[in-house]
Amino acid sequence: MEDCIFCRIANGEIPVPLVYEDERVAAFADLHPQAPVHVLIVPRVHYSGMQDAVPGEVYAALYEAAPKVARAMGVAESGYRLIVNTGPDAGQTVMHLHVHLLGGAPMSEGMVRLA
Ligand code: AMP
Ligand code: ZN
Repeated sequence: MEDCIFCRIANGEIPVPLVYEDERVAAFADLHPQAPVHVLIVPRVHYSGMQDAVPGEVYAALYEAAPKVARAMGVAESGYRLIVNTGPDAGQTVMHLHVHLLGGAPMSEGMVRLA
C-alpha cells in the first residue's frame, strides 16, 4: 500500500535495519521503545489490523517469527511479551497489522498500558 509506512519499510523502500526477516515478515526496532527491547514484527502484505479478514497463515508467519526475533535480540531465555493493538481504544496508531515484541526487563504496569 502506497502511503503505508510499514509497507514501505517492509518492502525496503525506507531503509531501516531489520533485526529479522523472512519471505513473509520483517522486524525492526520501534521508533519510541517502551522497553529495553521493543521490536515490531510486520507482515510484508498489507492488512490494516485484526479489523481486516486476515488469513490464519499471516498470523502463523508473525507468531512463528516471534521466537526467532526474541533469539536475535537476546531475550529468548529472559522472556518477552507480544501485543497487538487493535483500533482506537487500544491506541493503534499505525494501520498496518503489527506485533509488538517487548522484553529486556521485568514488565511493569506501564509497559502493559503503553505498548
Ligand atoms: P500501535 O500503537 O500498536 O499502532 O504501534 C505503532 C508503533 O509504531 C508505535 O509504537 C510507534 O512508536 C511505532 N512507529 C511508528 N512509526 C515508526 C517507524 N517509522 N519506525 C519504527 N516504529 C515506528
Ligand atoms: Zn501497509
